[in-house]
Amino acid sequence: MRVNLSLFNSLVDLAIPLRCIKCGTILGDKEGLCPICWPHIPFISKPFCACCGLPFEFDIDEDALCGPCSYERPLYTTARSVFAYTEGSRDLILKFKHMDALSSVPLFAHWMARSMGEMEGALCLPVPLHWTRLFMRTYNQAALLAREIARLKGWMYTPSLLVRKRRTPSQGYLSKKDRIKNVERAFAVPEIKKHHVFGKTTILVDDVFTTGATLNACSKVLLKAGARSVHALTLGRVVRGQQIF
Ligand SMILES: [Zn+2]
Ligand SMILES: [Zn+2]
Repeated sequence: MRVNLSLFNSLVDLAIPLRCIKCGTILGDKEGLCPICWPHIPFISKPFCACCGLPFEFDIDEDALCGPCSYERPLYTTARSVFAYTEGSRDLILKFKHMDALSSVPLFAHWMARSMGEMEGALCLPVPLHWTRLFMRTYNQAALLAREIARLKGWMYTPSLLVRKRRTPSQGYLSKKDRIKNVERAFAVPEIKKHHVFGKTTILVDDVFTTGATLNACSKVLLKAGARSVHALTLGRVVRGQQIF
């Protein structure tokens, strides 16, 4: 029997009213945030650092870099995030990270896709989880976002181009210096996949930008494999060195 999926989906939509992704208030036919929660999400907009996307508090030249990026330019060309990680936005990330709040994937991916310009022929891939962590969690939330973003932007979704070679302890309570040490040599582009990366613009997707150490470590191996450039894209971004987990 053939099932009319669009009709089926419409019926499901009618049966399950869409709720605010933060507080759960019923929104009717509109997906997203209710008017009470919306102002509590600190969406990032210009001005921000041309490289790492750190928001600036005052208007400044579009090419301006923040202090750390001027001191030592990260290996990714740009990093962009949808909102700052604050008390207000914290539960959106945590729900997504640790609970099965997967219904938010299309909305989050839509927000993330809007944060990036057009990059024709780009490869889109998630920061990989070690297989043991993937086994415990059953899904890599960054991969779900990357797949949907690739679809929205017309990029090629290439999750197997980057692998995590060794399991790294949770980054949560480490200083920036220890985080860098923690993720160094954790990632690799498999030898037989290197020719796929060569000369390509790559979009690296993760849920949160904390210090940028993980994204930088991934960028290092992608560039070494011959990628033309790496652009990082995350949902949340820690601002001013907050600890989050
Ligand atoms: Zn709400
Ligand atoms: Zn910066």
